[in-house]
Amino acid sequence: MRCRGASIENFMNDICRHTACGGCSMTGIPYEEQLSRKHQQLIDLLGAFGEVLPPIGMENPFHYRNKVTRTFAAVRDETKRMTTVSGTYAAESRRVIPIDACQIEDPGAQRIMQTLTVLCGKMKIPPYDARTGGGVLRHAQIRVGAATGEYLLTLVTAVPQFPGRGNLVTALRREHPEITSIVHNVNGFDTGMILGDEKRSGHENRILFGPGSIRDTLCGLSFRISPQSFYQVNPRGTEILYRTAIDLAAPAPTDTLLDAYCGIGTIGLAAAARCRRVIGVELNPDAVRDAIANAKHNHITNARFYRGDAGKFLLDNPDLTPDVLIMDPPRGGSDQPFLQAVCKRKPKKVVYISCGPQSLARDLKTLTREYRVETMQPVDMFPMTEHCECVVRLHRK
Ligand code: SAH
Repeated sequence: MRCRGASIENFMNDICRHTACGGCSMTGIPYEEQLSRKHQQLIDLLGAFGEVLPPIGMENPFHYRNKVTRTFAAVRDETKRMTTVSGTYAAESRRVIPIDACQIEDPGAQRIMQTLTVLCGKMKIPPYDARTGGGVLRHAQIRVGAATGEYLLTLVTAVPQFPGRGNLVTALRREHPEITSIVHNVNGFDTGMILGDEKRSGHENRILFGPGSIRDTLCGLSFRISPQSFYQVNPRGTEILYRTAIDLAAPAPTDTLLDAYCGIGTIGLAAAARCRRVIGVELNPDAVRDAIANAKHNHITNARFYRGDAGKFLLDNPDLTPDVLIMDPPRGGSDQPFLQAVCKRKPKKVVYISCGPQSLARDLKTLTREYRVETMQPVDMFPMTEHCECVVRLHRK
């Protein structure tokens, strides 16, 4: 297995105390063993399509998460006084489990969260109460540019009014000069989403400090990341994932490459130097704006990004005949309109990046009508959890 796990000593130090959070089902299992269990799960699900290679693991499987999210609540402490805590909802409940340290999250972001929690208590900014609908601060989300050291903090309130926010921003910046941007988002809806949808809520994000986004460097390129855009949560793993995918796609200098479900354009832009042109399609308008800005910022002139549903985009553009397709849909996978359009349009090679092996197996059933599976290479982007990314290279029959 291509993995040099962290030392046992380190590993023991990093074992999590918050098992009730439900995030890391493989906590306590040595990393080598985690990788072989994931390998076996993928073989069970995908073995019918061919050989599943052993997963590429991380050198250090701890503190890789560049996105840290907390939910706020008021609870009684041992002395029966109300105190502000931040953590995560217990499974299928509205009870917040306080989290003070996490083995997979960026330590700097955790420190900012701790300061934020203490400051909110001191400044009497009331946490939102899901049962009564009262209170203000609901969630906070921090994104880190691992390569740039930039921190973006998004404060999510249940109501548009946010009394005390000016003082809070000043105090946070004083204690954490590494914070480069702070954004206020409103989420009054009862959903599982952390950030409120600006259109649905009718409240645009408000920048309280900085540019409202951060930058990170990936595969030698610089990317802008807005609060609502998708960005891979494990930057060290992402470089391995993208390199694996682009090497398997192996575009020729004359090829048109379609980057479907492209997010902020990371994969397509990382591959742009190797092909004639890149077309990216993505549903989220913020992400598409980021992708266009990212192409410009990196002086990449052969990439175009479009907003839309990937399947509809292919159907609406019958003249688009990509030579190579890289597709990276959400965990639920792709859909029949897109897969059938691919089977009709028949790009020579398809590289499917999946974080949901069940949906991958389902989608491969459709694609293997016209394609044969050549390589299946898992990349472990999520140590300590049961999830694993898998890159599949398909070739037109
Ligand atoms: N390739 C990117 C993003 C992968 S996440 C990266 O590596 O960062 C999947 C992306 O698919 C998200 O950005 C999501 O907004 C987008 N998406 C979801 N459904 C979609 C659809 N039907 N059509 C196009 N994009 C979609």
